[in-house]
Formats: sequence, structure tokens, C-alpha cells
Amino acid sequence: MRYNALKILKEGLTGNKNWKPVWREPEPKSEYDVIIIGGGGHGLATAYYLAKNHGITNVAVLEKGYIGSGNVGRNTTIVRANYMIPGNSEFYSHSLKLWETMESELNYNAMHSQRGVINLFHSDGQRDAAARRGNMMISQGDDAILLDRDGVRKELPYLDFDNHRFPVYGGLFHKRGGNARHDAVAWGYARAADQLGVDLIQKCAVTGIDIVNGKVTGVQTSLGPIRGKKVAIVVAGRSSEVAAMAGLEVPIESHILQAFVSEGLKPAINHVVTFGMGHFYISQSDKGGLVFGGDLDFHASYSQRGNLPMMEHVMEAGMSLMPAIGKAKVLRSWGGIMDMTPDGSFIIDKTEVENLYMDCGWCYGGFKAIPASGWCMAHLMAEDKPHEVAKKHTFDRFRTGVGLMDEESKGSQHNLH
Ligand SMILES: Cc1cc2nc3c(=O)[nH]c(=O)nc-3n(C[C@H](O)[C@H](O)[C@H](O)COP(=O)(O)OP(=O)(O)OC[C@H]3O[C@@H](n4cnc5c(N)ncnc54)[C@H](O)[C@@H]3O)c2cc1C
Repeated sequence: MRYNALKILKEGLTGNKNWKPVWREPEPKSEYDVIIIGGGGHGLATAYYLAKNHGITNVAVLEKGYIGSGNVGRNTTIVRANYMIPGNSEFYSHSLKLWETMESELNYNAMHSQRGVINLFHSDGQRDAAARRGNMMISQGDDAILLDRDGVRKELPYLDFDNHRFPVYGGLFHKRGGNARHDAVAWGYARAADQLGVDLIQKCAVTGIDIVNGKVTGVQTSLGPIRGKKVAIVVAGRSSEVAAMAGLEVPIESHILQAFVSEGLKPAINHVVTFGMGHFYISQSDKGGLVFGGDLDFHASYSQRGNLPMMEHVMEAGMSLMPAIGKAKVLRSWGGIMDMTPDGSFIIDKTEVENLYMDCGWCYGGFKAIPASGWCMAHLMAEDKPHEVAKKHTFDRFRTGVGLMDEESKGSQHNLH
């Protein structure tokens, strides 16, 4: 079923009785050409691009919960292409271009809104760093404008510009950046993959990976064994756990990142605003809630909720930048498990086991990466060689120390620096 305005109008007038389930609920087959472990944004996009770009449709996505139950439905939805170093820069640039056509391609409203991202700076040194980053973004073909203090005041009049500790000096404005509705991205890719023949198997936890003579042959699951010619591990925060099922040790630590949503307010914040010095970022959802977050909790964990000290820190940082938001009530908060690499950049690579692949290490920035990650992972699995824009993102850089991509020179944990 294709969605269109006429259909919505007709259903609205006739009691919404003829909407069909958005995807099938198939029984798992005994064998697939490709098994993807993890039905988050990256797993679903990989399945979609395997079918769409490479004609590989005998594919199963195995998800232990329900589609959208992981980080893809838990993030603060910021989409941007303001990375700087070679490797990351071209990858995220490719991803943003895919975002710009995603909704029409998937025939799904993901509420992608290019409302602009403004990264604030608070000293002359930081202005230099922002100018440098902006120039690198422009030379990659993306957009950046360096705003002075008055330029920021015009866009964000509600900030406390004279904060004693971090007065606002200006901001780097990335107009094509913005946000989207997170779970709609999962649903859009899921529906499109299903329509191309991919089996989405929910409530199917992978419990083991079968390997014979160094080659993967399938997986053990809570619904029984399933054979697979190629297997992809795309499980974000659970990467170390699932890799260990194949005897692999991967350079990933799992940490919690929290998000917060306020009660619905009238439109007040028209951009995505980031306050790096306070570890705070904020935007306003289309329903009116202020959506905001900060940095990682202080300890590695597999729980999906955060601790109180970080909650307090985020509220303090928010109020020091925008005192007015202290009047809003926080309605909800949650945590997600982040797959942190030592250099803060991701991995899309083969593993030591033949025909077993991994897509992981998205840290706290993998939502914006979903389209390009799926595109590149599908390319790797279909062609058995890395895609041009992800060729630097291998395991090797952690084995050898050569080619590390530490975007912010802070490693995986901002809060330890
Ligand atoms: C609070 C928060 C804020 C964030 N903000 C942003 C942001 O603003 N912008 C941005 O770009 N990124 C952001 N991120 C990061 C982004 O959400 C993640 O990097 C990205 O969603 C991870 O990829 P995924 O969608 O595939 O992960 P997930 O949705 O977590 O998918 C992995 C799936 O694997 C499944 N799985 C795990 N183990 C198994 C198993 N054994 N068998 C079967 N299935 C299994 C899980 O159930 C899960 O559904 C944020 C994350 C959080 C938590």
C-alpha cells in the first residue's frame, strides 16, 4: 500500500477502517542468504539497501524485542553533517544527502526537519576551532555559517548571553542539519524492506552463532536454529555481547546516554542548539516537548535507564544557558545503551570469521548515520569490499593504532576529559 494524501482523506472520512498492517509477521524460514542480527535503524537500513541496491532479498532481520525498541527509538534525533576529519566527513555528508531523499524514497513521513543546528562557542580559541570546522564542512560540500554574538542573538534571543562562566561569543550554524521523528525512521525502513521481500522476525533473540571451520553457517535463536550464508551483527549497545557468541573481542564499551522530554509548550525553540561546554543540547519536537540531553553516565552498563547525578547535571546546564526553561516540567526520561569505541568513530567491517560482518561503534551519533550505514554495510556484504565512504572504518585501526579517527580529540568519553 502506498501512502498518499487522497488515501489519508478517504480513510479519515470513513473511520480509518482500511489501513493494513505495515509489515508482515512471517515465520522464520530454515535458511536465508543473509541474516541480520538487530532490528534497529542500522539493521533495517542494511536489509533495505541489500534488497534495493543489490537485489538480495532472501534476508531476515532478527530482533529480540520489537522494531524500534532500541536506540533508534530512544535518541534525541539530531541529524547533521558537521564532522571534520577525513573518513567521517565524507561518510556523514553522504548520509545527509540520503536523508534528504529518504522520505520520498521510502514513501514514509519521518518528519525530517532541516531546521538548522547551531553549535555555540564561548571563547576566542573556540571561535577559531569552529571556523576551522566550518571551512572543512564547506570543502566537503556541506554548509556552514560562522555567526558572531549578534548573529546568534538574532536566531536564539532567549539565551543567557552573559553567563559568567560561558558567555556566548557566537555559533557555527549548519542550516541543512536538523532532526526527525526517530521511530518513524525505523518504521519507514522496516516497511520498505518488507515490501521488497525481507522477513522481519520480532521477539527472536539470537543466542549463539554457528561456525564451522572458521566460516559462519547460521545462528541459534529463541525460535530455534536458522541457517545463513552471511550473517551481520548490527546490535549497537549489545555489540560486545553478540560478538562474544562468535568468540570475538571487539573494541567497544557499552555506556548509558539519557534523554529528557518536557511537557508540550508553544513553539519556542526553532533550531537544534548545542552547548558543548555544558554538555547540553536541545530542540523542540513537533508535539511541543523540549527534547534535550547531555553526556554519558559515569559508568559502563547494559541498563536502559540513567542515574540521578547526570540528570541533575543536564538540568543545571540547560538552565544556565536558557534560564526560562526552568519553568517547564520534565515529563519523561530514559536511557539507551551506547556502543562506544576508543576513538569515538564507528566500524563497518568483516570479522575474523568468514562471512560474518559487523556494523557497530556508533557512540552517541548513530541516528544521523542510519542511511549511510545501511548503504555501506549492504555494499560490504554484497560486494565483499568496503564502500568508498566507509573504507577507513575498519577494526585494523585499533589493532595497529594507525588511522584512528578521533574527531574531537576526546576519545570515547567526553566526561573523562
Ligand atoms: C539518549 C540518546 C540520544 C541520542 N541522540 C542522538 C542524536 O541526537 N543523533 C544521533 O545521530 N544519534 C543519537 N543517538 C545514538 C543513536 O540512537 C544510536 O547510535 C543508533 O540508534 C544505534 O543504532 P541502531 O538504531 O541500529 O540501534 P538499536 O535501535 O539499539 O538497534 C539494535 C537492536 O539490536 C537488538 N539486539 C541486541 N541484541 C540482540 C540479540 N542477541 N538478538 C536479536 N536482536 C538483538 C536490540 O534489541 C536493538 O533493537 C542517541 C542515543 C541515545 C540513547
